[in-house]
Formats: sequence, C-alpha cells, structure tokens
Amino acid sequence: MTPFPISSAETSMLEEAEHVSPSSPFAVLGGPGARLLAGPTRVEGAENFADHERRLGPLKLDSSSQAELREAIAQSGLLGRGGGQFPVARKLELAASSPGAPLVVVNASEGEPASRKDRTLLEMRPHLVLDGAMVAARAVDANEIVIYLHRARPDAITSLERAIAERSRDTATVRLIDAPARYVAGESSAVVSYLGGTGALPRRHSIPLAASGVSGRPTVVNNAETIAHLALIARRGPKWFAEVGAASSPGSTLVTLAGEVTVPGVVAEMVGPVKIRQLLSTIGGLDQAPRAVLIGGYEGVWLDGSTAWGITLDRGPLQRCGASLGCGVLAILGETSCGLATTTRLVRWLAGESAGQCGPCVFGLPAIADLLDALTDGVAVRRDLSRLHRLCAAVDGRGACGHPSGVVGLVESALETFEPEVRDHLHGRSCPAAEHGFPIPHQRNT
Ligand code: SF4
Repeated sequence: MTPFPISSAETSMLEEAEHVSPSSPFAVLGGPGARLLAGPTRVEGAENFADHERRLGPLKLDSSSQAELREAIAQSGLLGRGGGQFPVARKLELAASSPGAPLVVVNASEGEPASRKDRTLLEMRPHLVLDGAMVAARAVDANEIVIYLHRARPDAITSLERAIAERSRDTATVRLIDAPARYVAGESSAVVSYLGGTGALPRRHSIPLAASGVSGRPTVVNNAETIAHLALIARRGPKWFAEVGAASSPGSTLVTLAGEVTVPGVVAEMVGPVKIRQLLSTIGGLDQAPRAVLIGGYEGVWLDGSTAWGITLDRGPLQRCGASLGCGVLAILGETSCGLATTTRLVRWLAGESAGQCGPCVFGLPAIADLLDALTDGVAVRRDLSRLHRLCAAVDGRGACGHPSGVVGLVESALETFEPEVRDHLHGRSCPAAEHGFPIPHQRNT
C-alpha cells in the first residue's frame, strides 16, 4: 500500500523539483543532497539492512566510549525535531548521570495529523531510526529501547518489524508499543505516563523526564527524526552534521507540506537555508503567495501568505514573526479559502483531542470553538470578539500541558491574520469561502 498516492499530473510536477524522484514524494531543498532521505525511492520500498550498511557502512559503537559519543552529539548541536527544539545532548547527559536503568524512547506517534515525516522515515529508512536508537542507548548505557507508535501506521509497523528481525548484533532490545489515538498522547510526559501504566496523560514534572521518567528511570524521549540524525552523527561526525542547516539549528530538517498544495503530505528535507517561497513554488505547486500559511502544525501560527512568502524557514526569522517550525508542518490556505472557517474547524477538532483532565482545557477549548463558530456563521457581535480574547487569555498557560496554549496561539494568530474576514463576519456578511479550506481530520489520522 502506498500511503500517499500521487497522480500522474502530480508526478510530473514533482519530477521538475530539485532532486525529486518521480516515484518518491520527497524532495531535497537548499543544498547538494539528501541526508536522512538519501537512498532508495519510495517505489523501491523500505531499505533493507544489507543495503543500508552497504550505503552508509556499519555502525561501529564499540570504538567510542559513552562519554565520547555524548560529546560528539553535543558538538553537533542537534536539537530535537519534535517541536520543543531541546538540545539532545543535554537529555543524554542528564540520563547518563541519573540513578536507575535508563530507557530510550523513540516517539514515533506523530500525533500531528498533517505530519508525514516520521512515518516516512519509519517506512523508508527503518534502519536509520534503529541505528539512531542504538546510538542513544549506547550514549546513556541503556539496554532497552521502546518505539511508541500508532497501530494506524501498518506500513511503518511492518517495515520496523522486518527491520528488527534483520538485525542480530544489536546490544539493546527493541519493543514496539501501540500509542493511544489522541493528539496529546505524543506529548513527552504523556508518553512516559503511558509507558508507566497510568494512561497517556500529560503531566507537569518538576524533575526532567531524562532524570526520572518511566517508573522513576532516566528516560530519553525523542521523535523519530531526531533519533535518525544520531545514526548519521555517529558515522560522519559532528562537523559533517553541522555543515548544513543554520547556526541556531544545525543539520538538515524534514518538513511536511499540507493543505492546498499540489501534493499534500509531501515530505521535504531542507539541507540549507530555504525560503517558504522556494518550498512552496518548488514542491507545493504554487506560483504566487497563498492567502496564508499555518506554520508549525495545527497548534502553530498563521502568517499572512505575502509575509510568509519571503521568510527563511529557520528559527531566528520565524521567531521574529512569532512562529516556530514546531513539528515541521506547513499548511497552506489558498486565496479563495476562509481562514476563519478553517481555524474554527481546527479548534473544534483540537478541543475534542484534550486528555480531559484539566478544567481550562475541557471547558475552555469548546467555549472558544463555540465563539468561533458564531463568528464564522456571521451571528457574533463585537462583544463576542472581546469575550473570545478574554477566554483565550484565561486559558493560555493553564492545564498540565501546552495543548490549551497551542490552541490559543492558533486562534490569536487567526484573528490577526484574518482580521478583514473577522470584520466582514462581524457585520453578518455571508462568506462564500466558508466551505473552502483544507480538510481537518475528524478523528485520529490513519
Ligand atoms: S491541558 Fe488539556 S490536554 Fe493537557 S493535560 Fe490538561 S486536559 Fe489534557
């Protein structure tokens, strides 16, 4: 089964993009060649162990001490690619110096419905992920690795199971754990809570998970992309790793394009400075700025399309616009679509994804969705808009995880970016574009 079927018209568009194989919905932008996505095309399927070792050479961990490995990772400057952008080396140091048997967790749950990068890696380059997990395990002296992913990823599971069966020299055991189907179940503290047997409930921790996580054990949680980078750092060294990317975020980065683009779900590897314009025109099929770009996933930030068009996809420039690459999703809203209606559908969906344990989240998010509904339907008045802002302020920063704040960021950026539409809707003007926008999943992405 091909998870992202593409039509022949889309294929010819992809062929025109830089370094894009016609059979493989990934692209490489901004530099000489792929790193994580180098290797066989999608049609050739998952890379087997023999081909993986032939291409990259064997992973030799015995020759480096744990401290040397951690030092190399620190020098690489690798930051987590799951959204938090936390230095990976700091987690490893903490885990290595904390009491208890360490555990390495590859968080492949990819709870963001529009994201495809982690599942692409698991399906196509399972040995890169497994090698990276072995590197993390060696760096903290762990003998157990857990890969946490949804059963709704049959291709990724098949690919991983085959890959695990092909390997005989691994020093740590690998277990696949079925993750619950909820947006917040991929949050690190929810992952640790689930693995500890208390449900996938996010919690605030006074002690970092790397020091005390699953059943009090030092627990290193990283997403699949972050882990895959470790496999290359251990082989090629930190200097090679940092030759691409930005000083503030070294190495290549995977992004997923979603929404109103030619091929939603296409995954690109950025190996150099890439402007949003370049990404959208080369692989998104756009020849002009869209109405808006949602950056960082469904709990990201809307930017006006003409502003976003010239921005480089890097931490500094994004931060200056109040945005972050987050999980690496860029969702595009076309000129004829309504950002307000799209945001309302997103917020309604996100409100239903709460873990159901904190009042501000359980009651606040549906109330925000109700007010947005009224605004979209043209029945809200100015007082309702003030209430909406007040409600957002009341919910922001509350709860045991970042879910409420993520929704608030989405809503506040929508009210700013789509201010002309908000004004029209407040005047009760009907919106011909209300039905347009990118589709929002009603349940867990499958
Ligand atoms: S804030 Fe919401 S999603 Fe986060 S833990 Fe509380 S109820 Fe769950």
